[in-house]
Amino acid sequence: MTIIPNWKLNNGISLPSVGFGVFKVKEGDEVYHAVLEALKIGYRLIDTAAIYGNEEGVGRAIKDSGIPREEIFLTTKLWNSDQGDFDKVNQAFETSLSKLQTDYVDLYLIHWPGKDKFVESYKALEQLYKQKRVRAIGVCNFHIHHLEKLMGETEIVPAMNQIELHPLMNQKEIRDFCQKHQIQVEAWGPLMQGKGDLEAPLFVSLAEKYGKTPAQVILRWHYQHGIHAIPKSVTPSRIKENFSIFDFELSQEDMNAIDGHNQNLRLSADPDTAMFGFE
Ligand code: NDP
Repeated sequence: MTIIPNWKLNNGISLPSVGFGVFKVKEGDEVYHAVLEALKIGYRLIDTAAIYGNEEGVGRAIKDSGIPREEIFLTTKLWNSDQGDFDKVNQAFETSLSKLQTDYVDLYLIHWPGKDKFVESYKALEQLYKQKRVRAIGVCNFHIHHLEKLMGETEIVPAMNQIELHPLMNQKEIRDFCQKHQIQVEAWGPLMQGKGDLEAPLFVSLAEKYGKTPAQVILRWHYQHGIHAIPKSVTPSRIKENFSIFDFELSQEDMNAIDGHNQNLRLSADPDTAMFGFE
């Protein structure tokens, strides 16, 4: 089994440097088997969300894996319609815990900023953190202006900002900002969600050069940049492939070439206009 390097969040807690995402993985057998497979291969970080509707299957797979709960880093997220005061957030959190069959999560994230409730909601996350029911708190899809407002009005600097990030949208500005403030950046859609071209000539030629696949080259690029990637797959061979990125190193020149592939091309919603679930 591959043992992977751990990284540290700004509050000192460790997490595996690559994780496993389950967006759009169906509740029931599909998510159960995907998570079990990932854990068998060696993944120890699972990223789910209330809105994915698959927390029960994730919880069941973690239980049945036989791996002690404390050896698994579990992330879930507060959905937009549950943003608000502590009681509202706490209720959503309790529902997630019960589905996940656990009494704490390692990381609880605000899923989207929306417009005017994220400060209040984050204050509720701070309370959960102080009550030691979550080991770290953070956000997703926050632009710099959201982070500035949040940090200006709350106490705890987010441990994580999970954003759309891949070679077509490399988010250099947000990455620099987060690095300055010790906020770990986590890439969602690290493999371009199947919407970008993994077979683009650059990735294919680098894959040939290193004897790897295009997906592995891209995931290695994330890793060498210190970006936390959480690739999703329901295909056992790909789950394994995406985890096998620790036996090669991209040269600086090749890192630069992938950086140069950036087109600031967003493949999904823009956080400034994404208001689903808030209305
Ligand atoms: P990814 O970039 O991880 O892409 C997943 C797609 O790539 C699937 O179609 C998968 O196919 C395919 N794939 C996976 N591995 C390979 C491979 N080695 N070769 C070729 N194709 C491959 O996109 P996601 O949107 O799933 O992002 C990852 C995770 O980020 C999510 O699962 C979720 O946990 C999180 N996320 C968070 C969001 C947020 O707003 N905070 C938004 C979106 C995602 P298949 O499964 O069929 O093998």
